[in-house]
Amino acid sequence: TSPDLAADAQVRADDRAHVFHSWSAQALIDPLPVAGGEGATFWDHAGNGYLDFSSQLVNLNLGHQHPDLIAAIQRQAGELATIQPAMANGTRGELARLISEVAPEGFSKVFFTNGGADANENAVRMARLVTGKRKVLAMYRSYHGNTSTAITLTGDPRRWANEPADASVVHFFGPYAYRSAFHASSEEEETARALQHLEQTIILEGASTIGAIILETVVGTNGVLVPPPGYLPGVRALCDKYGIVYIADEVMVGFGRIGEWFAIDAFDVAPDLITFAKGVNSGYVPLGGVVISDAIASHFDTVTFPGGLTYSGHPLACAPGIATFEVFRRDGILERVRDLGERVVGPRLHEMAEKHPSVGEVRGRGLFWAIELVRDRETREPLVPFNAAGADAAPMAAFAAACKKAGLWPFTHFNRVHVAPPLVISEEDLVRGLDIIDEALAVADEAAAA
Ligand code: PLP
Repeated sequence: TSPDLAADAQVRADDRAHVFHSWSAQALIDPLPVAGGEGATFWDHAGNGYLDFSSQLVNLNLGHQHPDLIAAIQRQAGELATIQPAMANGTRGELARLISEVAPEGFSKVFFTNGGADANENAVRMARLVTGKRKVLAMYRSYHGNTSTAITLTGDPRRWANEPADASVVHFFGPYAYRSAFHASSEEEETARALQHLEQTIILEGASTIGAIILETVVGTNGVLVPPPGYLPGVRALCDKYGIVYIADEVMVGFGRIGEWFAIDAFDVAPDLITFAKGVNSGYVPLGGVVISDAIASHFDTVTFPGGLTYSGHPLACAPGIATFEVFRRDGILERVRDLGERVVGPRLHEMAEKHPSVGEVRGRGLFWAIELVRDRETREPLVPFNAAGADAAPMAAFAAACKKAGLWPFTHFNRVHVAPPLVISEEDLVRGLDIIDEALAVADEAAAA
């Protein structure tokens, strides 16, 4: 597209003067003014296009401006733009039915929220009410959202400045074979020891005090940590043994990211509550929710559920959700994601791991991968320290800048780059993006050698 520098200046001026941004020191940021997007690409007002390997915040599963999603929103807007949640609405009901049909057996009901954080907030609330137990166990290296309980559940530095928002949260270590907290030397050992650690945590914290365990089925922002075989079924067994509700946070990995409707389908396990958001409608209109197992839902058949939101099940958000199901089925999105992950992304990243001394490990599934960058493959010292900022983070900033210069918008976090493009990305663009990462890794190799 042709540059429009006047628009660029106006957007920048309004933004800098009036928009207060998330997770930022306001004077130290320089947000990119975005003019438009289509599919896996977006562009600024200055005429630069970017291939989006981050799907915005890993929510844009069907890409920008998908015609089916846009049409669904327009149709719904013409019919009925909003209706309060205490009334029944066809669009809301249809989406709830479609979601429960792809959930594990015995999940019939959906509580809709505005996004992922309040989905987790309400899932925890349900677990506490049903069990009568208040404590919640959550993983280090996790993100669960920005409301008071969700940020406390979060096992990354975003929690620190918000503590203590919910005093009843305890963190534990999950499996992470590459940086094992358990000195394990094989995946089997990692699984067994991570489960022993979780059971010890339950025993020492007191099973009689713990209402829920929450975990991301595949840890997202904190590393694309795919659980080793047996881990999630082991968590399920511990929850059964100790009367604890198992909450699967599928906000980032649900709706196709790893080639499944819900990621739990890949790991042979059924939780008690599933939270979702993002990919349910690619974030075109804010939407999240909790899929509720019948055992928990039935508790509230005669007992009032003490929670609600003005926009719960908003029809403008649910309409593109229904369209998402149609597109996924018509275009074989889940099969496509599995195929591209196995045939294109996985092999190419493993090739990069061979070639670049700064690559410590690559891991992932579907269209969800991480490249972990290190200074030294032997010691596995991360390329930048945990939670690095400013000068400490310079090598990662240089890597990201090299990607952007070549027309790729990367997802970087600490010492990792994630590969999470829209699920509709063409194979050609996918390969082009991987080529750019491959080239930009030379910058990381240099930093590692310095
Ligand atoms: N849970 C996970 C796993 C997430 O990745 C996120 C957002 O990135 C959330 C919860 C919070 O979702 P939201 O930002 O919609 O509140």
